[in-house]
Amino acid sequence: MDIRGIIINVAPIVSVLAWMLLAYLILLWAASVLWTYRDIHSRSEDVAVQVLAVALALVLPFGGVLLHLILRPRQTLAQKYERLLEEEYLRRHLEDPHVCPTCQRSVEADFILCPHCQTSLRRRCGACGRVIDLAWSVCPYCGDDGTGAFQRPGYRQRVETDHAQVYER
Ligand SMILES: [Zn+2]
Ligand SMILES: [Zn+2]
Repeated sequence: MDIRGIIINVAPIVSVLAWMLLAYLILLWAASVLWTYRDIHSRSEDVAVQVLAVALALVLPFGGVLLHLILRPRQTLAQKYERLLEEEYLRRHLEDPHVCPTCQRSVEADFILCPHCQTSLRRRCGACGRVIDLAWSVCPYCGDDGTGAFQRPGYRQRVETDHAQVYER
């Protein structure tokens, strides 16, 4: 068999391989366009930006995706939102956490009245004297519900012994 014969025999195989390679490249290209579409959707709500990114990936196979990787917004929308929440959280904690709800001036954590506008901030428990939240109907420290009668026997005993110890000193 001469060289010409070999070429004639091999040509169909080469042609099939070439077609397979082409199909593979087209598949990769389509996948890259789909990936770009999804990626830009998670990073930008701007329709013009989305169209531009997908068009780049379509018109410039693979190169367009590379360009998109370089030019795309650094953060996804979810990351941006998360960061916004984090910053908001930090900002709140850096600011004085105790602020009068009426005049917005800073107060100490254990104030029962705002010294500036005299708004009630907290109240003193009638039974144990500790400062508690205005919204609480029962004192969490001694169980007093404002009527002076303790509801649970278990509580009664412990509170009374606590009080006895306090008064003994
Ligand atoms: Zn105030
Ligand atoms: Zn109490």
